[in-house]
Amino acid sequence: MPIKESEAIVLRTFPLGEGDRLVSFLDRQAGRVRGVARGARLPKSRFGSTLEVLAYIRIWYFERETRDLVRINQSELIESFLDVQSDYASAVGLALVSEITDAVLGEREAAEPQFRLILLAARAIRTHGPSPVVLAYFCLWTAKLGGWLGALDRCSRCGKSLELGVAYHSSGFAELFCADCREDWAKPISKEALYVGKVALGGTLDRLWKESPAAAPTKEILSYALDILERHIEKKLISRKTFETGESGLVES
Ligand SMILES: [Zn+2]
Repeated sequence: MPIKESEAIVLRTFPLGEGDRLVSFLDRQAGRVRGVARGARLPKSRFGSTLEVLAYIRIWYFERETRDLVRINQSELIESFLDVQSDYASAVGLALVSEITDAVLGEREAAEPQFRLILLAARAIRTHGPSPVVLAYFCLWTAKLGGWLGALDRCSRCGKSLELGVAYHSSGFAELFCADCREDWAKPISKEALYVGKVALGGTLDRLWKESPAAAPTKEILSYALDILERHIEKKLISRKTFETGESGLVES
């Protein structure tokens, strides 16, 4: 039974038995893996704080042919986001990143671009706080990497450019329609929101920051992306509600 060494990001952890921890992590090469860290909840555990959510670690684990769960032998911290977790709003932003990633990725499907995207988003939350700009970028790219996003500038039925008129879509569906092709129940999405989406998908997060997109269209495109992700995972994201409640709280205060 060979031991495997890899870089990983901790996605979620759950208490297991007396002092163990069940850990879902993203192996940089192998994709999402679940494993057991024996004794990780005991005082003086050799895992220390390496298994906190979104910790970027080096991990050593044993694969067992007959079981789904690997056995985590050792882990070392490369980069911790514990400092970011101490701010409540930022912790909610990080929770959204980890919950989405854990839900959208298939088990043991290589997802290196998603690995880099998580690190980028977590570091940006450390620098800028849990800004909708960061989360819109993260969610749009997660949906794109999943193959669930289409073009944001053309009607998906007739191909007409959406840059001039209003675009329409049905909640949870990526397809955008022009006024002529839309179904009666489709709801409008602003061209400002689609522009933020296009900049996000056409370049880097730095470039999106430089555009300093306005709050309302950024939240609109974030909500569009979150609806698509929720439809694909067939459930509501727990941290989304907390995040959106916190966001509206900030606006009111
Ligand atoms: Zn059309």
